[in-house]
Amino acid sequence: MVKQTAVLLLAACLTLTACSQSEPVPESTETSSQPGQQEDSGTSNEASGQSPEDTMKDQTETPTEAPSTGDRQDSPASSEESEASNDSQDLATEGEDHQGEAEPRKNTDQGEQPEVAVMRYHMNKIYNIVPSEESAPEKVVLLTFDDGPKEEEMLLQLLDTLDKHDAKAIFFVNGYRVEENPELLKLIHDRGQTIGNHSWDHINLKKENPASVKQQIEDVQQIVEQEIGVKPRFFRPPFGSGGDTVKQTAKENDLLFMTWSNGSLDWDASTRNKPEAVIRNVMEQLHPGSNILMHELPWTVDALDELLTQLKSKGYGFVNPEEIEPEMK
Ligand SMILES: [Zn+2]
Repeated sequence: MVKQTAVLLLAACLTLTACSQSEPVPESTETSSQPGQQEDSGTSNEASGQSPEDTMKDQTETPTEAPSTGDRQDSPASSEESEASNDSQDLATEGEDHQGEAEPRKNTDQGEQPEVAVMRYHMNKIYNIVPSEESAPEKVVLLTFDDGPKEEEMLLQLLDTLDKHDAKAIFFVNGYRVEENPELLKLIHDRGQTIGNHSWDHINLKKENPASVKQQIEDVQQIVEQEIGVKPRFFRPPFGSGGDTVKQTAKENDLLFMTWSNGSLDWDASTRNKPEAVIRNVMEQLHPGSNILMHELPWTVDALDELLTQLKSKGYGFVNPEEIEPEMK
């Protein structure tokens, strides 16, 4: 498209045989023709979110700044070609830029759609997930993964397995891990999973003073919002060790405090490198509304596909955390 136009322009220039004199003309011609092309490619590329005005602004900047404009005066014939390819490179790059800009928006939109979903479940006082309305199935589990984000490889496997089973989970993250791996936090979010707050340092909050508890919780709210644009609304204290101060601080931050109601013991030496033990532990404690505690650990990653298969075969579904009401009942 661009090349064709450039060739046409070249042809026009040659016909006029006054290319160097008409320097401003091709430039303005290009400027006026390119937005049209850009709109076309914009529509087909669904460069959504980018208004035609923005596109035009980008376009007009490119030719004016392009050094090849000067080259053209010296040797019109050959430099036109090189400019054509330069321009198409510019366009290609810009196209990528536009996509890069548009994609996160698209993902965010997609990520936000489930949030609009009806909150048809709530958590009871023993941290089980219970239907709030009759239409919501009772046989569901809440999947949770704590202590990340650690490693891309493990996370990708977890995310792929969750997608395979059309399952959603809460990833309870630690602030220091997020600080180390912000891109992994974004990955979890972009893949449509929910982020929860698991304190900054993974310390026993019950032993901390109120100011420290506040900082441990609020610093995570802040860094998560900074990285993905939304604050967590679920909180799980490390070691399940809470107390009134922790619960109060969570509440002040609009966080739903939870421990769990089904421990996979995947953190324990008894399950180390034993995916089958993780599965067995969960299945033995399985009950409607199970709030399943798991971690970003290799044997849990290895267990997940089989675990979700077994849960489904028992008639269980996976609750979308976005469907859980903000208040415990
Ligand atoms: Zn933990």
